[in-house]
Amino acid sequence: MLYVFMCVCVCVCVCVYTCTEFKLWKEDYEKKCNCWYVQSSGKKGSSLYFYCNRSGNFESRGIGKRHLKSQGTSKLNAYCTAALIVNTNKDGSVNVTVHKTHYGHQTSMCHLRISETERLAVAAKLANGVDIQHILDEIRDNMGDSYHRIHLLTRKDITNIKMAFCSRK
Ligand SMILES: [Zn+2]
Repeated sequence: MLYVFMCVCVCVCVCVYTCTEFKLWKEDYEKKCNCWYVQSSGKKGSSLYFYCNRSGNFESRGIGKRHLKSQGTSKLNAYCTAALIVNTNKDGSVNVTVHKTHYGHQTSMCHLRISETERLAVAAKLANGVDIQHILDEIRDNMGDSYHRIHLLTRKDITNIKMAFCSRK
């Protein structure tokens, strides 16, 4: 007999006062939890929904031509229950409801993106003429007790950041 266990979501309400604070809090929270939340395109009422990036069905588009990422796709064939629900108040402040429990996957760093703040810091170093190897050394030297996605930064990541910021100009 097959039993399917469904985790009960742990809901925690967090009040964040401004949009900027929310952005910073979200980045920090994602780092701590090794997860990444993406905004859902649909808007339900006045709430904004951010779902775990591992949620959703994986669709293989190309026929044979598309190469899968070496670590496999980050999408699951299931919906993860972790989410952030953001409600904007009349005064512009935002309330965030956090559904902490992930369902159907482990939180692994290889599927994470580098945060915008970290990308900007790398871009600023590139603009100042710091070479790629030096940036990589510096990041590893600054690695304390905590270990985040930024510490897995590769030469390829830096090249991608370089290209992204050059095309913005
Ligand atoms: Zn998840």
